Amino acid sequence: MINVPAAAEDFPFYLDKDAFKDSVLNHLHSTLGTIEEKANPQAWWKATCAAINERVFVGLSETHKAHSNIDTRAVHYLSLEFLMGRLTRNNLYNLGIFEPARDALAELGLDIEELCNEEPDMALGNGGLGRLAACFIDSLATLGYPAIGYGIHYEHGLFRQEFRDGQQIERPDSWRDYGNPWEICRPESIQKVPLFGYVETVFGNDGQLRKIWHPGEMVRGVPWDIPVVGYGGHTVNILRLWESRADDYFDWDVFNAGGYVDAQAEKSRAEAISKVLYPNDETPAGKQLRLTQQYFFCCCSLKDIVRRYKRRHDDFSQFAEQVVMQLNDTHPTIAIVELMRLLIDDEGLDWDNAWGICEKVFAYTNHTLLPEALEKWEVGLFENVLPRHLEIIYEINHRFLDDVVAKKWPGNDEIKRELSIIEEGSVRMVRMAYLCVVCCFKVNGVAQMHSELVKKDLFPKFYELWPERFTNVTNGITPRRWLKACNPELAQLYDDCVGIHWPTNLEMLKKVAEYADEKDFQQKFMAIKHKNKQKLATLIHDLMGIEVNPEAIFDIQIKRLHEYKRQHLNLLHILTLYRRILQDPNLDIQPRVFIFGAKAAPGYRLAKDIIFAINKVGEKINQDKRVAGKLKVVFMPNYRVTLAEKMIPAGDLSEQISTAGKEASGTGNMKFALNGALTIGTMDGANVEIREEVGDENIFIFGLTAEEVDLKLKNGYNSRDYYYNNPELKAVLDWLDSDYFTPNAPGQLSSIKHSLLDGGDPFLCLADYQSYIDAQQKVDETYRDKAKWAKMAIMNAACVGKFNSDRSIDDYVKEIWKLKQYPAVQ
Ligand SMILES: *Cc1c(COP(=O)(O)O)cnc(C)c1O
Repeated sequence: MINVPAAAEDFPFYLDKDAFKDSVLNHLHSTLGTIEEKANPQAWWKATCAAINERVFVGLSETHKAHSNIDTRAVHYLSLEFLMGRLTRNNLYNLGIFEPARDALAELGLDIEELCNEEPDMALGNGGLGRLAACFIDSLATLGYPAIGYGIHYEHGLFRQEFRDGQQIERPDSWRDYGNPWEICRPESIQKVPLFGYVETVFGNDGQLRKIWHPGEMVRGVPWDIPVVGYGGHTVNILRLWESRADDYFDWDVFNAGGYVDAQAEKSRAEAISKVLYPNDETPAGKQLRLTQQYFFCCCSLKDIVRRYKRRHDDFSQFAEQVVMQLNDTHPTIAIVELMRLLIDDEGLDWDNAWGICEKVFAYTNHTLLPEALEKWEVGLFENVLPRHLEIIYEINHRFLDDVVAKKWPGNDEIKRELSIIEEGSVRMVRMAYLCVVCCFKVNGVAQMHSELVKKDLFPKFYELWPERFTNVTNGITPRRWLKACNPELAQLYDDCVGIHWPTNLEMLKKVAEYADEKDFQQKFMAIKHKNKQKLATLIHDLMGIEVNPEAIFDIQIKRLHEYKRQHLNLLHILTLYRRILQDPNLDIQPRVFIFGAKAAPGYRLAKDIIFAINKVGEKINQDKRVAGKLKVVFMPNYRVTLAEKMIPAGDLSEQISTAGKEASGTGNMKFALNGALTIGTMDGANVEIREEVGDENIFIFGLTAEEVDLKLKNGYNSRDYYYNNPELKAVLDWLDSDYFTPNAPGQLSSIKHSLLDGGDPFLCLADYQSYIDAQQKVDETYRDKAKWAKMAIMNAACVGKFNSDRSIDDYVKEIWKLKQYPAVQ
């Protein structure tokens, strides 16, 4: 158990308003080099960050000292994505100095809200997977575990989204154009990364065969550290992000030979590695640059880990006791092979010794069951970029097939082909997930149901081989960012009800359920929700010029745009209500505001068409007088962490409507429930566990189960049956296909109907349509009963304590990482 201070003043880095004010002014003068009269909001924000960093850096040094003194086992969280969002408000809350900072800034004539808006989001991730990594490092620091996050210091994070005539356009994200106050460059820890070239076989003096990799190119990895402040300030860990640079700014040989231009080109090639985050969620790009990114950050991170280990150890006998590495999806799989290479080629270990270590230090988190999302790399790409690693992969595969598979299934060549890390075919491929399962000592899914499917559907034969290797760790979210900082009024209500310890002990909110029936509490709870809705309504008006009614149901779907998440099913519901209103102007329905936020991968045509369709349908509905304010449709541009923080506290209804069996966990569902929204959702991912926690009477479940989805697809699902047998469904699909929503341009929205009929509707929107409409009808009826709705909302908020990321981390620690807590600052 970590002690949370009993009062703000007991946080180790507490300082009062006047001290904070002095600190900001001091930094404005001496760090920013400006004066009150000249400073713009950006300068004030930076001065504020500098004041915060004075505390953060002390915590950082103390933590570093404490952890290196005890020389303890630590987890290394390897992830190609960290979706951090903004850090100012979060750091203030975690240090326990938000209120003094707010009041100090107010005395300086500054609004802390506006000041925080100066900070660009650190959007170094696509969606759920990257945000999970960010929540996990927050929890690791909060719980006082020795941990380090490793990733890439992308110059450009996820693209900024704009709409032009309803279509998504992508603009570059530049999160550090004017400098980022949270990052610290560490030139003393630069690493070199070899690439390309060829492998030479030699015999050493001892007659041993050795491999020497002669790289064709070297790049440098420059580490940038982002301090990760745990809640309470007892531990400040780091997130270490690698930036690529050319090995030498001037390659003098090339330069002197008149090759100035060539030298510059080489520099650009090296710097391209960390230039931009691939914007594909769930679908690998398969590009050489992406493989290079993966290897680049794994190589830098491993060298960093080995360097730190070797400071205190002369051999590798203790390595597996000191080091555990968690692979966030298969993206960092190459780290396994790189460690084999380091141990064998650089450190001189033999294969069995090296393998014995590798088998004990890597664990793998699977994030998806979608077949198209499983990473495979062409053998030819490896041959070119990482020739030595390909040899090692062949050797791992050879030993696995001969020693393990052949013993379990003697004489069965078919099963060897099936389980081989190398997929045979016209183009031979390396199956990264298989490599992970073969090498890692633990493989986990991210929700109970998902972990079962990982065993049954994804790796059934591997599960037969190694049942003890497979486990579950249900995802979670940090209640500091996703409740305390983003919904301060609800947080205050909880402080008053259950005391101030809930941010590190979220199960304490269970006690709030006891008040769920009390009129007085219901009113307080719903008054906060209403205020949050008013704030969001103001934001929508300011950003988009659309008036929305805070009394209406705020029905929100925010997540990446993907067919399996079924934003188009939501659209079919909107069209259904719109059509009913046109057919019966007196239709008695509860007013609703449908709010969307979603980015589509730039090359994902149908996803972009769905955004366009929602925007076009929205335009029509929002202008149609006959709708009389009963419906509004708002697609907020540029969905990101900062927008989520403003939308989630205002949600009444949380749309979690993926095809059952397709969403591994979801974490948006958890954020909404924790902030008192009711879920309408399928029996998918963590929805299943949310239902267990809040009770079937407090959630709107609809649709086919994962087994039913499987059966339907196996037995020849025909979406046309649903189209022809449901007149209302047929009518709205035909309507979408007309030029009603795109006057003078028929066919602009056709691709959706086309994919649902001719395309076979792979995610069963039509099969789930009626069940969804019926569930939405129940939502409408429930919302009429204000007391009932309030009770359900409170029950949701009170009962989802399980889904905090501290619990996830505890599970990882017990099952996989086996760490001890060492909070550094007392
Ligand atoms: C939580 C979060 C996600 C994940 O949402 P899901 O609904 O679980 O897909 C994606 N993007 C952002 C910005 C988030 O904060």
